[in-house]
Amino acid sequence: MKNDCLFCAIAAGEIPGRKAYEDDKCLAFYDIAPQAPVHFLVIPKEHIASVAGIDDTNSAVVAHIFEVISRLTKELGIESYRVVSNIGEQAGQSVPHLHFHVLSGRDMTWPPG
Ligand code: 5GP
Ligand code: ZN
Repeated sequence: MKNDCLFCAIAAGEIPGRKAYEDDKCLAFYDIAPQAPVHFLVIPKEHIASVAGIDDTNSAVVAHIFEVISRLTKELGIESYRVVSNIGEQAGQSVPHLHFHVLSGRDMTWPPG
């Protein structure tokens, strides 16, 4: 756990989040400012700053997170959705702990803004 990291604190249960799923490696919780009718985030419990911090020592958790996204969306009855990860300030990353947004329930545009 990294000190002063909001999502490490949520993963540790120190700050509450509305949980969608949890296991020993990851946590899914609903975004506090939803951008779609369904909007949750999936994070590794270990601190990784962003996609740019993934390497061969920690990439297994990313495969696990995508398995969780595939299973959880099915359990929630979601068939069409978007998975987004912002990396760095210009791309819109505001929390420097790896997270995958899962957005669903409305028409979406491409390219994203
Ligand atoms: P980013 O901007 O880094 O791609 O995504 C961070 C997301 O975290 C944003 O969508 C923001 O609404 C969400 N967020 C920020 N603080 C909190 C919080 O305390 N609780 C929850 N559930 N979501 C948060
Ligand atoms: Zn963290």
